[in-house]
Parts: sequence; structure tokens; C-alpha cells
Amino acid sequence: MPLMKSWLESANRPDCPFPLNNLPYGVFSTPGKDPHCGVAIGDRILDLTAMEKAGLMKLADKKVFDRPEWNAVMALGPDAWTRLRKLLFGFLADGSALRGQAERFMVPLADAKMHMPFTVAEFTDFYAGKNHAENVGAMFRGAENALPPNWLHIPIGYNGRASSVIVSGTDFRRPWGQLKGPQDDAPRFAPSQRFDLELELGAIVGQPSPYGQPISVAEADAMIFGYVLLNDWSARDIQAWEYQPLGPFQSKATATSISPWIVTREALEPFRCAGPERVHPLLDYLKEPGPMLYNIAMEVELTPKGGEPTVIARTNYREMYYSSAQQLAHHATAGGGMRVGDLLGSGTISGPVKDSRGCLLELTWAGKEPVTLSDGQTRTFIQDNDRITLRGNCHGDGYTLGFGDCTGVVLPALERPFR
Ligand code: MN
Repeated sequence: MPLMKSWLESANRPDCPFPLNNLPYGVFSTPGKDPHCGVAIGDRILDLTAMEKAGLMKLADKKVFDRPEWNAVMALGPDAWTRLRKLLFGFLADGSALRGQAERFMVPLADAKMHMPFTVAEFTDFYAGKNHAENVGAMFRGAENALPPNWLHIPIGYNGRASSVIVSGTDFRRPWGQLKGPQDDAPRFAPSQRFDLELELGAIVGQPSPYGQPISVAEADAMIFGYVLLNDWSARDIQAWEYQPLGPFQSKATATSISPWIVTREALEPFRCAGPERVHPLLDYLKEPGPMLYNIAMEVELTPKGGEPTVIARTNYREMYYSSAQQLAHHATAGGGMRVGDLLGSGTISGPVKDSRGCLLELTWAGKEPVTLSDGQTRTFIQDNDRITLRGNCHGDGYTLGFGDCTGVVLPALERPFR
């Protein structure tokens, strides 16, 4: 698909992440105004809350943009999602007669502060990258037992906490936790020393599934409203001690950062691509009716405080073994209903070669092979005040479709964890 031209020139630049093809949804505020709904186009945000108030944007019988979240729009369902996109094309396309109306409701992106784009109902994180699972399994259990016996049959996941999901730009403190290294006689309670990032894609569930009712992969795909970049920050030392037999718990409960713009499933359609060859045939309920992954180039950048940024990994979402739709279908098999605003982390996205690994645990092989930054410093895991930034871009024919940065700084741990 070629670039869809807008009358807004900044949206037509080949490197602009927010061309008319994209139209990602976010929640923003400007000085003196509460957070509300907008859509990014070029270097601007179109203020949908104000347009709805002015009677120019009617999506349903009731107002849906008069709140700091996209959940009400999601709840309207896929027909309304498509209608909204068409309405926006009508306002923003090159030659639009409605240009004058839209221009009154635009604010510069640079003046906006971004907020959580939706209220997270529940958060689940998966483990669906084969390269990642093989690498981590080899480190923790040895090369022979790298992939657990269920891995090629089940998209493995754990139920995380919605309360730990934060928007890009929110800094947080290194956690304290229970640690016990292999050489230690006893566990101790201390700040995590092996704090890590995980490069992931987050799928946002925009439609509910009824309690007690499994769903097919095709139904699951149609329920997904859009995607964000997701950093599933992980305390590896806490994780190694706590994870058996029920999986990660406090090691993943400090923060999960998401990028502020929801890139819709519709915008990503031209970038769909097929999943990998299956090592074993999947059970019928997990078989994809069509291509379910996306060609999204992704990277991880580390910036020490006051220092230069270094890209430490480059990979692509198409490396995954299971898609979000497969994960969602699997999630509903036991009958627990899915909710509007559920967030599903893809699992760490790692490619086959060393510098395409999506976390420091893999990049440094559990700390044995430090990565070198552009200024000569080295890292095994994240140090205090390091900034981690995730990026994701789809490369179209003469245009870019981007997610916007997902960034955060790991601040020093509390000096005393309890009051
Ligand atoms: Mn994860």
C-alpha cells in the first residue's frame, strides 16, 4: 500500500511515524487541560474530545471521547472502529473539504504530555518467542532441556497485574525482593542486582468474550483493537529464585511500560505476515486461518544518565512463534471471559543472532558477556538511572508507520523499603 496523502505536510514525510495510514489513538493533556482523547497525525494531535463536544465527531448515540481512556470506543466494537477511521480520513486526507474544521482542533505533539491510553482490565504476559525461550531455557536448565516439553504446543503465559502497567515516560524505582544466588546459603531481602528489560508487543483486547465460551483464533483476531510496544521489566535474580513451580511473580510486578499510542489492527493490515513452520502441528483450536504476525522492525536503546544512546538490539515481531490472536484464543479455552481493556504481552521478541536478542539476560548470556556502549561503558544488567527506549516501525512503500517511543528510567531503589 502506498502513502495516503494528507493536507498536513508533516504527515507525508517518508520518515514520519504518524502518516494518514497510521492514525494511532492516545490520551494527552496540554497545560491547564485534563487528559483526553486524540489521534496523532504528522507532528500534530487531533483533539477528538473537543471535536465530539463541538458536534463534529459522532460515533455513537452517547459521547465516547469525554474521558481519559479509549475503553468506551473499544466497547462499541469493530464496525465503529472502522467508521471512526473513515471519519478521520474524511477530515485529514489531502484535498478534504473538512480541512478547516479539523485545523481548529489540532495541537502540536511537542506541547502534549501523554497518559495511559486505556484502562488496563487485566494483564497477561506470554513467552511466545522461540529464540528467547531456547536461550533462556539453555541458561536456566541446560541446552538439552531448553524448551519445556509443552512449549511447542501451548502459548505459555502468566497472569500479571494491571496495576503495574505504566505509560512511557514514567520512571520508577529498582525493586527490592527476595534473592538467593546458587552459591548463597540462605535468601536475603535486597534491591535487585540483575534488573532487565523485555522487548515485547502488547495486544489490546477491544471486545469481550462471554464467560464460559472458548473462541477461535479468527474470532480472537477480530477482538483485538490495536497494539502498543511493551517493556516487561524483569528482576532476573528475584525471578530465578521464585519462579518454580508457578512462574514469575514479584520479578515482573514492578513495572510494565507501554508506548502511549495505540496502533490499530486496521492500520497494521498491510504488514501482516505468516508465522513460522511448525515443529509439531498445532492442535486445531490454535491453527491460524491466515497470516497472524506483523512485519515490525524493533530496537532497544540504552542511555546512561548524561550519556550517549546505544542501540543494543534490533529484531522484528515476525520472529514470534505464536501470534496475539493464538494467545487470546488459548487464553479463553478454560472459560474465563476476556474483557475490554485486557492487555496481552507477546513475550520477549528475540531474533536468531546475538544482537537481535530482546533482553539483557540473553544479550549478555546471563551477565557473562557484557555489552559495550558507544562511550565504552559496559553493561550486564540495567544500572541505576539508565534509560531504556523501545522503538517499533513498519516500513511501507515510501512511508513509515511507527509506534512512538516506549521509554523509562530505572531510578535507584528506596534506601529503606519499609516505612
Ligand atoms: Mn515478558
